[in-house]
Amino acid sequence: MNAGEDTLDAIVIGAGFAGLYTAFKLREMGLRFCAFEQGDDVGGTWYWNRYPGAGSDSESWVYSFSFSDELEQDWKWSSRFPRQPEILSYLQHVAERFDLRSCFQFNTRVQKAEYDETENFWIVETDSGKLSRARYLITAVGCLSAAQLPQITGRDTFEGNAYHTGQWPHEKVKFKGQKVGVIGTGSSGIQAIPVIAKEAAHLTVFQRTANYSVPARNYDLSDDQARSIKKDIKEIREFCRWSTIGQNYDFREGEALELPKEQLERQFEIDWEKGGFQWMFGSYSDLVFNKKANELASSFVKKKIRETVKNPFLSEKLVPQDHAIGTKRLPLDIGYFETFNRDNVSLVDLKDTPIESITPAGVRTSDKLYELDSLVFATGFDALTGPLTRIGIRGKSGLLLKDKWKTGPRTYLGVGVPGFPNMFMITGPGSPSVLGNMPTSIEQHVDWICDCIGYMRANRLISIEAETQAEAHWSDHIKELSEKTLFPSTNSWYMGSNIPGKPKVFLPYAGGFGTYRKLCNDIAEREYEGFRFT
Ligand code: NAP
Repeated sequence: MNAGEDTLDAIVIGAGFAGLYTAFKLREMGLRFCAFEQGDDVGGTWYWNRYPGAGSDSESWVYSFSFSDELEQDWKWSSRFPRQPEILSYLQHVAERFDLRSCFQFNTRVQKAEYDETENFWIVETDSGKLSRARYLITAVGCLSAAQLPQITGRDTFEGNAYHTGQWPHEKVKFKGQKVGVIGTGSSGIQAIPVIAKEAAHLTVFQRTANYSVPARNYDLSDDQARSIKKDIKEIREFCRWSTIGQNYDFREGEALELPKEQLERQFEIDWEKGGFQWMFGSYSDLVFNKKANELASSFVKKKIRETVKNPFLSEKLVPQDHAIGTKRLPLDIGYFETFNRDNVSLVDLKDTPIESITPAGVRTSDKLYELDSLVFATGFDALTGPLTRIGIRGKSGLLLKDKWKTGPRTYLGVGVPGFPNMFMITGPGSPSVLGNMPTSIEQHVDWICDCIGYMRANRLISIEAETQAEAHWSDHIKELSEKTLFPSTNSWYMGSNIPGKPKVFLPYAGGFGTYRKLCNDIAEREYEGFRFT
């Protein structure tokens, strides 16, 4: 590819939280850059995931940027867990407030990015065929942005309306008076199902794996609550930065297995009433690391499901059987299990009667045809690697990133990849990313990457590339850390198991946000140890 003479300092892909903050920082640094976004506006995840019930599972006051005190003080969140329209408005506000829209070319999909080894530049081709050339390529493509449709025979023959939760239409979708089917009971399905059930004439939930869920216990923020949070926000943010999952809480002292059973049960109940991820990740760490302790937590939630769902036959179907709680990403819900007490909701257990095909009329299982007007695929994403490998990224010697990662992604810090100089991934595979609060993770990565670029410019360095040995150590470290947890025991998107043919490798870094931040800081202080400069 030949991109002509005009060479930029950087090209950024994506206009979600990561792309917006990167654009803000690069402009502050005085860099010449161009940013591409395939949607027609900012928002990333919150631009695409507009399904009914969509919202954040992190508390609003931390699910937001911390880089501007004024922004933090001026913006008013309405509730504990903000819903998609409010988060999208927030990101639009950020774009306006800091005049960031002008940095982006919208409706522009990056098709290819190729590294020119002789000149040390990235050449990027968009879907309009336009080529751009820049020293650095910064991917702000998100971790859960490559929507995955299931490979079911006849999938595209359905004659009703079909939707994927991660590619939801912008116009209002109406389910009133309709027979609706939802395939999938991950976080997206668990958020959407209670809301769709209230509108549809009948909702059929096609469940392959029964899932755990913890109540969100969302609430509106009073003026007093908002004022008090704003007063303490600096301490709150600092706590998040060094915590295990980037949130304003961390594991308690002690272990669940050390407590008398009744005392633990009481604690579970108290935490259950508070709701949120805290129920597990603000509790005892052995719930995550120890199988026996985890069984206590799993049993508690199973008991809650049985108490909530009135029909005992149905409640048994909804009780997870085959995985430890937390080893699939724990959903938070607003009335998910209660929804199955409604007369207009039915559950199809695909373990008993698997889907055989999708037909023009609906979903056919081994038992019968379910006729539907609308079908919702809440079937997830090609997580972490998909957003990157779906772009034709070629490094040195024309190596495709997709080929390099054929046996699983290998990175250094989740930021750099040997053979792909001057490419920086924001929250890439091998970073903590999806194991906690994304904005905390994103800000740390963007700051680190921009500091690194600043260092290179100050030292007149042309290229940076992760060393193969550093990549090997990091990949071994990721594996070792994951083996200390219960994650590898379950088929989940964390392990790549939801994508046919994807290697089964634990994708994120499980050592905790704070530990990772310290590691990254130390590496930067040691002049970017593990990276080679030219
Ligand atoms: P997901 O967790 O991967 O869940 C996909 C669901 O679809 C699973 O229940 C899966 O069943 C089912 N499925 C997939 N293929 C199927 C097939 N061929 N037949 C039947 N069922 C099939 O996807 P997601 O719910 O979209 O969530 C993905 C991630 O996005 C979450 O874990 C979370 O990190 C993020 N997210 C966050 C929020 C939030 O913060 N509020 C909300 C939504 C999503 P199996 O379990 O059997 O594979």
